[in-house]
Amino acid sequence: MSASLRFAVVGEAFKKQPMDVPTPSERPSEYFGKYVFDRKKMYKYLPAPVYAKMIDVIDNGAALDMPTADAVAEGMKRWAMELGVTHITHWFQPLTEGTAEKHDGFVEHDGKGGMVEEFTGKQLVQQEPDASSFPSGGIRSTFEARGYSAWDPASPVFVLGDTLMIPTVFISYTGEALDYKAPLKKALHAVDKAATAVAQLFYPDVQKVVSNLGWEQEYFLVDEGLYAARPDLLMTGRTLMGHDSAKNQQMDDHYFGSIPDRVVAFMRDLEIQALELGIPCKTRHNEVAPNQFELAPIFEETNLAVDHNMLIMSLMKRVARKHGFRCLLHEKPFAGVNGSGKHNNWSLSTDTGILLHAPGKTALDNLRFVTFIVETLMAVYRHNGLLKASIVSATNAHRLGANEAPPAIISSFLGKQLSDVLDHLEKTSDDEIALAGKQELRLDIPQIPELLIDNTDRNRTSPFAFTGNRFEFRAVGSEANCASAMIALNAAVAEALMDFKERVDQLIADGVDTMNAVLTVVRNDIRTCRPIHFDGNGYSDEWKAEAARRGLDTEACAPLVIDRYLDDASVNMFAKTHVFTKAEIQARNEIKWDTYTKKIQIEARIFGDLCLNHIIPVATRYQSLLIDNVHKVKEIFPSEQASKLSANNLNLIGQISSHTTFITENVERLVEARRVANRIGGEREKAIAYHDTVAPLMEQIRYHVDKLELIVDDELWPLPKYRELLFVR
Ligand code: ADP
Ligand code: MG
Repeated sequence: MSASLRFAVVGEAFKKQPMDVPTPSERPSEYFGKYVFDRKKMYKYLPAPVYAKMIDVIDNGAALDMPTADAVAEGMKRWAMELGVTHITHWFQPLTEGTAEKHDGFVEHDGKGGMVEEFTGKQLVQQEPDASSFPSGGIRSTFEARGYSAWDPASPVFVLGDTLMIPTVFISYTGEALDYKAPLKKALHAVDKAATAVAQLFYPDVQKVVSNLGWEQEYFLVDEGLYAARPDLLMTGRTLMGHDSAKNQQMDDHYFGSIPDRVVAFMRDLEIQALELGIPCKTRHNEVAPNQFELAPIFEETNLAVDHNMLIMSLMKRVARKHGFRCLLHEKPFAGVNGSGKHNNWSLSTDTGILLHAPGKTALDNLRFVTFIVETLMAVYRHNGLLKASIVSATNAHRLGANEAPPAIISSFLGKQLSDVLDHLEKTSDDEIALAGKQELRLDIPQIPELLIDNTDRNRTSPFAFTGNRFEFRAVGSEANCASAMIALNAAVAEALMDFKERVDQLIADGVDTMNAVLTVVRNDIRTCRPIHFDGNGYSDEWKAEAARRGLDTEACAPLVIDRYLDDASVNMFAKTHVFTKAEIQARNEIKWDTYTKKIQIEARIFGDLCLNHIIPVATRYQSLLIDNVHKVKEIFPSEQASKLSANNLNLIGQISSHTTFITENVERLVEARRVANRIGGEREKAIAYHDTVAPLMEQIRYHVDKLELIVDDELWPLPKYRELLFVR
């Protein structure tokens, strides 16, 4: 694009008025969940016994029989048709990015030559999408060719446009999970069971423990016209080249700054649509980088929260286009400014309260609090490498270890008060913590109540921080499916709690009273998991060395991080919690490596094209202009004066030559590196080759392209620059 065209595009952006966002006449409290078949609608559209049955299915996981499913489908159809719905789809989360759907019309032959609208329980409960082109990591060839999707009644169906969307799991006929939801539900079940058993040590009435997730979604907005002129953004979601803007985030003037009108219009539109879909949006603000923003809802049960995050990501992209923006969910769209993540705020709660909540007044509450904190830390300690593997990807690798959240080492920030509590418990002698049965449990932990008040010493560099009543897993990538992290975390915590309970039970069997048994195991575990606790600066070099000394996983190479899934500790943990079999883990790893390779492969191809077809020709043209000028100067000035006058241009001509030569030669090497890597048989080894040879070459070449951007006449430069992409709004 010529510069004039480029600026025409920018001009267009400035001309764009904030879109008219239809203001609903109702309040959010009134239109919240308008397009969701929630309990209120179920109550209205289902016969009373069917409603009661469905509540049992949703709340207690009771089995769903076909007559009930038929009756539910009939009620759903009635509701949906009132909203103009004509189609249904099973909506699932395959191991690619995003979600998948296949639409079927309600229409059926009526047997009399006409049509009727039909929707049966069978269609609601199960479908067989053609699964052959979804990644299965070889599961289908090893096991069974077909896959099917099955309704997840725990996540309510909703209406999007003319379609009734039915959240489903996606599994092979032999039972292996081909998606994120199936293992997530297993992990949530495992943590419910394990945490309920432990919670009952304190409160015998507890029946169920729920895992909560509150995600904070970061994203960039870029003007649509500029986006269209960047083939790299269009094809890979990030800029593969581009020099820093003279101004970027150094003034810190964007974070929490006032939100530009056009962006506010987008956000309002998005929030209204999200609320109508039952997503409880609450917070919105500018983020650290220019044109970077964040959206966060009120936390929800983890399975539902994951679905809502998947839904909001697709909604964001759609609504952005309506407002002349493109929404970038890539973890690192721009070099030199902050990337985007998705903080996963996680906690466990019972029907009576949050288990990680800073304690109440009784010693029993205090010990419950400490138990759940410490066992979470045990899980993170034992599986720190695995948790990193659960968030790693080709795109998130740009954040990992690159001096912004998250560091490539998983550790946990606890803050002063909580650290003091744990230290105190660990160091106090048994005699000091004199215990005589539940009633007289004297657990002297005076600091705890302050936790709630003084929660300000937040450490932004910690990938897993305690923040008052929850842990915040900050390493999750902005475009990732949260389920990956939530599967690993919930399963690991389930294992820690199971293991905890086994040891407590053993002590009780040996005659120790319950609270003493709990205390003994907790104190032991505080000592064991000490290495995971780190309140310092997670970006410092000292920490890298210290973490290695502590035995934490410090690997930063993404394809190698993925190996952690196959560690014995991981395989055993996933087997014990019934989340994954080893075959499933192997298959999923194959997909992860393959995806990694493909991402870098696509980037390298587009990068090569841009270099050869956009950058080199333009640089050469500008160089010719300079050469021309040097000749002309020579013609009209005496030679000594001419050389003086042309010194600068001659220097530039030389610089351009050296940059273009480097680029040309190394793009050839890049192609060759790809060729070599592509010949490698195993997915893992291929991914490693892409990591070791292809990715670094792109970085090296980019340096020279970015230098050219500084030299070449702006009029000629073919791509919108960072200052335009980041500041036009
Ligand atoms: P910050 O940016 O300071 O971390 P935000 O207010 O942006 O905080 O987001 C906090 C997120 O944490 C919200 O989604 C909120 O609902 C969620 N959250 C709050 N309490 C809990 C909890 N106990 N368990 C899980 N998530 C929680
Ligand atoms: Mg946060």
